[in-house]
Amino acid sequence: MKVYLDHGATTKPDVSVIRMMSRCMEDCFGNPSSLHSYGTEAASALEESRAAVASLIGSKSSEIIFTSGGTESDNLAIKGACYANRASGNHIITTTIEHPAVLNMYRQLEREGFLVTYLGVDAEGFVDIGQLRSAITGNTVLVSVMHANNEIGTVQDIAGIGKICREMGVLFHTDAVQSLTKVPIDVAAQDIDLLSVSAHKIYGPKGVGALFVRDGVKIARLMEGGSQEGKLRAGTENMPAIMGFACACGLSHRIDNVRGLRDRLLEGIRKRIPNVLVNGPADMERRLCNNLSVSFQGVEGEALLMMLDMRGIAVSTGSACSSKSLQPSHVLMAIGLPPQIAHGTLRFSLGKDNTLEEIDYTVEQLAQVVAILREMSPYRGDE
Ligand SMILES: *Cc1c(COP(=O)(O)O)cnc(C)c1O
Repeated sequence: MKVYLDHGATTKPDVSVIRMMSRCMEDCFGNPSSLHSYGTEAASALEESRAAVASLIGSKSSEIIFTSGGTESDNLAIKGACYANRASGNHIITTTIEHPAVLNMYRQLEREGFLVTYLGVDAEGFVDIGQLRSAITGNTVLVSVMHANNEIGTVQDIAGIGKICREMGVLFHTDAVQSLTKVPIDVAAQDIDLLSVSAHKIYGPKGVGALFVRDGVKIARLMEGGSQEGKLRAGTENMPAIMGFACACGLSHRIDNVRGLRDRLLEGIRKRIPNVLVNGPADMERRLCNNLSVSFQGVEGEALLMMLDMRGIAVSTGSACSSKSLQPSHVLMAIGLPPQIAHGTLRFSLGKDNTLEEIDYTVEQLAQVVAILREMSPYRGDE
């Protein structure tokens, strides 16, 4: 049996997405900037796609900028806001559990002279709103806090964070790559100024994403070129990918059964395997419906991952970006896990096509593999 449980890293494009993309390349190859009918046809497909993304987050179509993915959206939002608002201040705030796309950019901005506050999180990965409020100064221009964490699934109270930022006159950006379609997003009600999303985490193609920029919010562009995307993102639009992304936006209702499967996976693990620790919020309503992060005491996550892979099961040891280095995950460090426990951690991220049989198979294989590794290990799980 083949079981894919790494939807936090990427998802398999839905067949409807693939059809849409191939139809776009065959029938709708015009450049949206061209004035003839090929161009106007592509331009209207582009605007329809924009509306599809906007409808998922409650924005206007005109507030959506297409980019090459979540990473570019984060860069455009954060660097763009910092550079455009330098005259108002040079203090910016984020958290210690952000995706590298945000965290490494803040480190770069620090080298460029911005003052950065990295807010810590509690043992479940939550930002303290009072602490955020007191970190904001007259010199603060931007707060970036991710909506849902990609490793431990913590869903932040972004409405609460947005409200404070709005009250204090600071721009609020959120990376919603993991939460899009899984947690309700309403950029108006949640006081969000800038929001990043990506297609390949929601059954769309890789290499396309979007940035929501609230009307009236000033950001600087990062590339010079043509006047596409409201002059904020030059270059001929990637139409097949954009139309595939729009198509994927219509699939959002298909993840309804994921929560039940995730809960069954957890229940199975708890029943079959002793000495496990669940990372992230204990209240399952406050974490991503498809995420489960579990530490297996006395085993190495990498060894577990490899043995599961041989049995057809694909999981991750954290985020795809940090899994190739042997450093323990910065997110697991931030919630206070001791390094040796962090090293025995697996992230399971479920998707719309996973089945009950797959989950039961995974629990069975996991129980066997953990037992084998603990048998071999000098540090048993019970010590
Ligand atoms: C995957 C991911 C990104 C990066 O998106 P890409 O489209 O792969 O560049 C950014 N933030 C989070 C939280 C992610 O999970």
